[in-house]
Amino acid sequence: MTEDLLRELELLREFGFTHLDISGGPPPSAAAAEGRGSPEADLLAELERVVSACEKCGLAKSRTQVVYGVGNPNADLMFIGEAPGREEDIQGQPFVGRAGQLLTDIIKAMKMTRDDVYIANVIKCRPPENRNPEPEELDACRPHLRRQIEVIQPKVIVTLGKFALQSLTEKAYAISAARGQWLDYDGIKVMPTYHPAYLLRNPAAKKEVWADMKKVLAELER
Ligand code: URA
Repeated sequence: MTEDLLRELELLREFGFTHLDISGGPPPSAAAAEGRGSPEADLLAELERVVSACEKCGLAKSRTQVVYGVGNPNADLMFIGEAPGREEDIQGQPFVGRAGQLLTDIIKAMKMTRDDVYIANVIKCRPPENRNPEPEELDACRPHLRRQIEVIQPKVIVTLGKFALQSLTEKAYAISAARGQWLDYDGIKVMPTYHPAYLLRNPAAKKEVWADMKKVLAELER
């Protein structure tokens, strides 16, 4: 068995799997299929085209490209992270580096795929050397995220880490106190949890994230 497969199995176990269905992986969900070619998909594509030329902050100068967001434009569940890193800046997709692999594993453990959910960041361009986003960068980018949420209208938003939580809500929440507690954004339920990059450094915190994701799954089933 390859190292990768072993790692995957261990992660799935950590994220709550007790057995595996090896019949060929999850079929593309009806939700994901419906999202393609929908009015929301067209609108997001148009917004992405506009945002890809954004020069509202200094990050426009250093980025390779804008990383707008990916996934199902009609998703019930939206994940919001901080900002693109090196891999994301190169590939133009959010969460494709190491932290992204962990987020993908979390989504799989929730019995979904990346195509079922929508994934975006509060900052659409990579900060140089992956430094923390500056307040004026967060302010400049917030309208792009707001518009994205308005179009997608998810039932639940999961914010990943402090910057996503604070920038979305515009409140100075401490992530350790807020995680696991439902918040509201414009009538949409928000579940703050730890950022996958934090989980890479602190694997013991995975169980808290899984507890948060169980609350999310219960809410989505209501
Ligand atoms: N971290 C984030 O917050 N977003 C990404 O897209 C990648 C890493």
